[in-house]
Amino acid sequence: MSSDLKAAVNEICSKHGNDATGMMDILRDVQEQFGCIGSEAMDVIAKAAGTHRVEVASAASFYSFLTDRPTGEVAIRLCNDVIDKMQGVDRVAEAFKDELGIDFGETTPDGKISLEWTPCIGMSDQAPAALVNDEVMTRLSSDDARDIVASLRSGREYYKLRHELGDGANADKLVHSMVINNVRRADSVIFNTRRQGDHHPEVGIRNALGMSPVEVIRSIKTARLRGRGGAGFPTGMKWEFTHAAEGDEKFVICNADEGEPGTFKDRVLLTECTDLLLSGMTIAGYATGAATGILYLRGEYAYLRRHLESVLASRREASLLGKSAGGKDGFNFDIRIQMGAGAYVCGEETALISSCEGLRGDPKTRPPFPAQKGYLGKPTLVNNVETLCCAARIMEKGAAWFSQFGTPASAGTKLLSISGDCGRPGIYEVPFGIPLREVLEMAAANNPAAVQIGGPSGQMVGPDGFDRTICFDDLATGGSIMVFDATRDLLCVAARFMEFFVEESCGYCTPCRVGNVLLKERLDKIRTGHGGPDDLDYLQTLGESIKTASRCGLGQTSPNPILTTLANFRHVYEALVKPPEGELLATFDLDSALSEARAIAQHD
Ligand code: SF4
Repeated sequence: MSSDLKAAVNEICSKHGNDATGMMDILRDVQEQFGCIGSEAMDVIAKAAGTHRVEVASAASFYSFLTDRPTGEVAIRLCNDVIDKMQGVDRVAEAFKDELGIDFGETTPDGKISLEWTPCIGMSDQAPAALVNDEVMTRLSSDDARDIVASLRSGREYYKLRHELGDGANADKLVHSMVINNVRRADSVIFNTRRQGDHHPEVGIRNALGMSPVEVIRSIKTARLRGRGGAGFPTGMKWEFTHAAEGDEKFVICNADEGEPGTFKDRVLLTECTDLLLSGMTIAGYATGAATGILYLRGEYAYLRRHLESVLASRREASLLGKSAGGKDGFNFDIRIQMGAGAYVCGEETALISSCEGLRGDPKTRPPFPAQKGYLGKPTLVNNVETLCCAARIMEKGAAWFSQFGTPASAGTKLLSISGDCGRPGIYEVPFGIPLREVLEMAAANNPAAVQIGGPSGQMVGPDGFDRTICFDDLATGGSIMVFDATRDLLCVAARFMEFFVEESCGYCTPCRVGNVLLKERLDKIRTGHGGPDDLDYLQTLGESIKTASRCGLGQTSPNPILTTLANFRHVYEALVKPPEGELLATFDLDSALSEARAIAQHD
């Protein structure tokens, strides 16, 4: 073993306290310095952090931004989600391949540049997009791809290729990115406050600290705030459970791991509403009795880290964090950032907790729920970025003010990330209860044939669903809305979504690990004209089985691309499986095929 490598890895481990719970930070740093986490480095890490080598290898192999194979000094990760495909990413991919002389998954012979595909990086409103190491490149053309490669080869700094900087804080020196915010519609709770300049982030904290924790929780409950991640669990109840849980130490985790393809609203909240978000975390810490907040930032948003660290430092300076935070004696609360490393399943709260603990992002069995036994076995509150921003506004303006917006069961406003076949992709803050048709008009979706609500795990609706409303009781969404016009092949879209779930399944339970592969294969059979009418029953039965037999939210929603297109676009399937007139279509033994699915679902 090289003594240089050993010393360097030991130094990295030491920087992170030689603590296995800091494994994500250790692995990211080793990867950054050496281009991979090789076998020798794993041995050193295991010894320094006091854990088993298998644990190190297991975590290192789980995350897509980490690897044990040597890769280039620069990794180009091109986003291959459905929206990027629609915006011409394949042409950009060809240009990268030509210019580099390698295929995806390969590294140039000089070891300088690697080329990889990656799922949604939160830039669907400015696709095609790529990450060049941590730098975000948006609105890419084939020429841009060639320029990037030429620049990297000539030793120029690739970030200088950006034609211009983005707006707002994107242009600040700590972010310095070409990302644009694309806030197309502001409403009362989040974005109008910025425009009117009437928002003072510390007011919410001051108001909260003037109350007891129980009174704060009561306000959140009175406001009828529900989690903005999509499931809509009442936020006040979650806070109450964590507050009531026994524990010498409690935690608040902000889930900033928005990985649902087509979602990018948290990107803007993290960039432009940082103080509001951190106020929300601080108020949640006070209400639940936590002393530590963890902001789990998805690896794709690493370009925002310096900005976030800077705001955290300013808030410590202003005594809004740290000992007697907000001037409240006995309330000691601080926030740290935990970086992710590319794993969609970590958006699931128990998987996210595993990742914070330095483990693979495996979901945990519930109960116990995080409120009782979460991070390091301690009571933990997990809320998403938008939810915490809303909580801060409730404490600033009052529960009655907040609940005047939206509907009785879905109070407040919702941020939507709209992309696809529309003239004005971007972020829209709308009151809950707004009809989808109105949203589509705002986004200049002139000829929509189908709309995917809530990302691949949500539902695809057709024109007969456009008068439905955006709210928890009807079209619930964490924020992603993808628009498809009549030129799009909807089964191709569904197939790409299934491919995504197959890639992102953690593999723990068989229905999700195997069942999604079978669903995708059967869908492909139909798409290529080899399916029979019985295949539709197969998809339905297997899809429903996977939903009920899977352990976590990923598996419980992964068949939705097929099930919702079957429900709302059955004619598309039927046109493909219809036997030619006068002929019998050769088919197969349905019962035997389904028994395979039943066995998967029932014997896991
Ligand atoms: Fe893992 Fe899928 Fe099972 Fe969730 S449902 S635990 S992602 S295999």
